[in-house]
Amino acid sequence: MSLKLKRQEIVNTGRKLLSEGLVTRSWGNISIRVDDNNMLITPSGRTYDDLQEEEIVLMNYHTLTYDGKIKPSSEYRLHAEIYRKRDDINAVIHTHQPNASTLAVARRQLPPVIDDMAQIIGPSVKVTKYAYSGTGKFARQAVKYLHGRQAVLLANHGAVCVGRNLEEAFVVTHILEKAAKAFIEAELIGGATHVSKISAYWMHKMYLKKYSKMNEENR
Ligand SMILES: [Zn+2]
Repeated sequence: MSLKLKRQEIVNTGRKLLSEGLVTRSWGNISIRVDDNNMLITPSGRTYDDLQEEEIVLMNYHTLTYDGKIKPSSEYRLHAEIYRKRDDINAVIHTHQPNASTLAVARRQLPPVIDDMAQIIGPSVKVTKYAYSGTGKFARQAVKYLHGRQAVLLANHGAVCVGRNLEEAFVVTHILEKAAKAFIEAELIGGATHVSKISAYWMHKMYLKKYSKMNEENR
């Protein structure tokens, strides 16, 4: 996919997140891995409704240097650390989405309460220890608790959702929000139950395998 198409994909995904209430105004950020050194990331302080392709910043995720005069999102370290540590991930969405943020504030991990959450996200969504946003510690915490999963909750802050492509990361944001809402509401009416961690682990493994096979078939 060309750089231009990747920029377009980021802009379109920003609008979809906005229309689904998963981001508001300029909060949250999106990136795509371009190659072994670079990522495209949304700029700092811009609103999603009128974001332009040329405002997306090309940044080296090893050196943290970037092209042009437009500043990348202040949370670029979070995205860079994920691309450095997770070879399997090519897209990152960071949100302050409402129900996932409630869990991040309560510092409650999300157990595998819904089948599609277990399949697509993994056996649970863990919560990091608290760190100031934008710092290296914040980024390292996120990667640590993201291990083996496609989402993590950032203590008192929000969520990070990742995928092998941007479409998959978008689906993760959606499913995370749905599962977080179901979990919170089930706790209010007597308590949530969840599938076993072992079943959830295997469901996730199977999903990753099946999906990569489907990709090969489509080539
Ligand atoms: Zn944030």
